Amino acid sequence: MFCPFCNADDTKVIDSRLVANGGQVRRRRECGACGERFTTYELAELVMPRVIKTDGSRQSFDEDKLRAGLQRALEKRPVSIEQIEVAISQIKHFLQVTGEREVPSQIIGEEVMRQLRKLDAVAYVRFASVYRSFQDISEFQAELNRLNADGKDATD
Ligand SMILES: [Zn+2]
Repeated sequence: MFCPFCNADDTKVIDSRLVANGGQVRRRRECGACGERFTTYELAELVMPRVIKTDGSRQSFDEDKLRAGLQRALEKRPVSIEQIEVAISQIKHFLQVTGEREVPSQIIGEEVMRQLRKLDAVAYVRFASVYRSFQDISEFQAELNRLNADGKDATD
């Protein structure tokens, strides 16, 4: 791997450990040319089922959107990035072991709620109360954006 500081290709791994319940490998690397250290995260690329939206259209599973949704539901809550990454790993694992090539978005929404309930009761209620009336994660995301833009937060 090239050094992000000086672009030399003489870098080596000085520490390696599992994070996010073994779902990711965190590596500390050091550049032999400039001596700078940096961190990389490695995760396996597994095939995710496609998502069937409520209107019947299909789209690819969007991990960034899922992460943004979780972070928004967990805003100002005592939950670490590490815990959120664990929840994302578990949601992805759940979807991968279904063995299905396509999964309805409601199934994902229900699994997200299951994970949130374990993490934080307030975030769970926040997510569930909005999500249940939408049944679609992208509509839910839009509604959360709207609520945040209004500066309203009924749960605080
Ligand atoms: Zn370097």
